[in-house]
Amino acid sequence: MPGGTLAGMRTLLDLVLPAECGGCRRPATLWCGACARSVAGPPVRIHPRRDPGVPCWALSPYRGPARQAVLAAKERGRRDLTEPLGLALAAGLAGLRTAGRPLILVPSPSRRASARRRGGDPVLGCARAAARSLDGCRVVPSLRVWWGVRDSAGLSARERDRNLRGRIRAVPLPAEAAKAQVVLVDDVLTTGATAQACAVALASVGTYLDDILVTCAA
Ligand SMILES: [Zn+2]
Repeated sequence: MPGGTLAGMRTLLDLVLPAECGGCRRPATLWCGACARSVAGPPVRIHPRRDPGVPCWALSPYRGPARQAVLAAKERGRRDLTEPLGLALAAGLAGLRTAGRPLILVPSPSRRASARRRGGDPVLGCARAAARSLDGCRVVPSLRVWWGVRDSAGLSARERDRNLRGRIRAVPLPAEAAKAQVVLVDDVLTTGATAQACAVALASVGTYLDDILVTCAA
């Protein structure tokens, strides 16, 4: 193929795919090495205001490349970031894992309308990418958001609690969950209200979380 055609294709691709890093906007790469390193450390223990009653961990504070990437995946349709964010999650999970136990990831639920608008649910996508790279790990999306939940961005802690009360529900997990390490995964943890509501919903169907791991903690 002549070089000119290849260059033309690249230009066309640039129109379709943003050729800039999802974390720092460096050109000509989708996720650069420096941004990958910023989420590659061992997960840090966090203590949210609303205590979900299980250990909570984060890959990064809610700033810098991790925050930019989460927002790009969530708000700007950067689905290409699902894979690198999922691999970062997998590395974090490897550090939290109890040897010899299967691992079940339960993604924090998206409101269906907002997931549609974003062209897919990035939290579910990251969980699936993480599970693909870990042995004995599967994703069980058992949490649902019932009608009437507003996006929690910009709400106070008390408003978030009210917004979520009784609105996150779980369907029972398969029997193997009883022997598995069950981890709730999410992109951002702010007050802990969503994580707490998820833990309560799962407990109501007999599943008790072992850990909560998020990409970013505010
Ligand atoms: Zn970068």
